[in-house]
Amino acid sequence: METVKPLFIVDVHLGKLARNLRLLGFDIVYSNAFTQAELIALALEQNRILLSRYTGFAKYPAVVSFIIQSEDPTEQLKQVVQHFHLTSKLNPFSRCMVCNGMVQSVQKENIQGQLLSNTSKYYNEFWQCATCKRIYWNGPHYNRMLALVEKVKQWSYS
Ligand SMILES: [Zn+2]
Repeated sequence: METVKPLFIVDVHLGKLARNLRLLGFDIVYSNAFTQAELIALALEQNRILLSRYTGFAKYPAVVSFIIQSEDPTEQLKQVVQHFHLTSKLNPFSRCMVCNGMVQSVQKENIQGQLLSNTSKYYNEFWQCATCKRIYWNGPHYNRMLALVEKVKQWSYS
């Protein structure tokens, strides 16, 4: 059977889960302003699995929904990664955590004017979102994200 990377749409109260799944490289539709009707319509239109803490979506049999059990963002991520067997499909840092766009390497001279002086002084490698133009670099936040990615890789064995 052909393995297709699952596409997800994430309910309004699960912003941290949405960002973390994007960090791992998954295609995530998320907005904190979606109504239930919009969530259902987008899930159906785009063939996405709806991740929610709300059990009420089960009454729409056409929608593939999955109930997130924990209130803790790390536990939420673990539940999704383990249930959908995502550890073999990780593509960390390929996708923008803010807008879901694809992130590409960018030359420092092309974005120099947008950097804070300390960032410009201490870092030389940068990536930019093709969609929202947000700039990423290997700062302290990167190390925290890398630690999370390493943790996720271990979950396939637990
Ligand atoms: Zn972006």
